Amino acid sequence: MEIKVLDKGFVRLDGYMADDLSVVNAAKVSFNKRSNSMGDAESGLINFLMKNRHGTPFEHNAFRFHAKVPIFVFRDWVRHRIASYNEWSGRYSELKNEFYIPEPENVRKQIGKPGNYKFEPIDRETALKYIKGLEKACKRSYKYYQFFLKIGVAKEQARMALNVNIYTEFYWTINARSLMNYLSLRNDSAAQWEIQEYAKVIESIFAEKMPITHETFIKNGRVAP
Ligand SMILES: Cc1cc2nc3c(=O)[nH]c(=O)nc-3n(C[C@H](O)[C@H](O)[C@H](O)COP(=O)(O)OP(=O)(O)OC[C@H]3O[C@@H](n4cnc5c(N)ncnc54)[C@H](O)[C@@H]3O)c2cc1C
Repeated sequence: MEIKVLDKGFVRLDGYMADDLSVVNAAKVSFNKRSNSMGDAESGLINFLMKNRHGTPFEHNAFRFHAKVPIFVFRDWVRHRIASYNEWSGRYSELKNEFYIPEPENVRKQIGKPGNYKFEPIDRETALKYIKGLEKACKRSYKYYQFFLKIGVAKEQARMALNVNIYTEFYWTINARSLMNYLSLRNDSAAQWEIQEYAKVIESIFAEKMPITHETFIKNGRVAP
């Protein structure tokens, strides 16, 4: 099921191998022991591991997501190296005429100094001016893209005309330990609003599949173990 994000994007859980018990048993193998179900002792063990940052037992699981995001969001996302990525190639197929255009209430102004910026909604008149200009710029860039393709320029060079708010798609496979690092950094008010919107959806899926691990992550200050 695709969960809609921004104006044209989505996140979809394509597959997973993940539960709280995998964390418990990866830790219990140290004593050659195993649990068959979650109970208070098992939840307590997850809390102990999270609190003391014993991270490796959180690696024996995987989430495979399929997401559609603007390229500038993907640029932030792909910095998370402890994961596997495959992305739609603009060298091999034509990119679609789909650009992210923010809602007027999400057009922001930047206040403060580097390292301490605050982002606040800009006045509506300026927001509408920005949206109109952005739409024009996207239309123009896509027109040039198509023109370059028409005169025979390779896709890999024609795409240089395109804006960074054009949508791309990718598959992303990640374990819970690295996912918690991603959530800690990207479902946070310091991250750009647009990637936060994706991280919120990713976090709700993580919470559904590994509820005790997620609860314990929150309880321990949202720090990846
Ligand atoms: C608010 C915000 C602002 C940012 N601003 C900038 C910016 O201005 N410029 C910029 O370039 N980036 C910026 N970034 C990106 C940031 O520097 C990280 O690249 C990104 O958040 C990924 O984090 P990570 O390295 O912890 O994740 P991953 O790459 O997934 O790594 C996970 C963990 O593995 C370990 N690890 C991975 N690789 C190495 C390694 N080579 N050596 C040692 N340990 C490793 C670390 O413990 C790391 O935390 C920003 C990120 C955020 C959230």
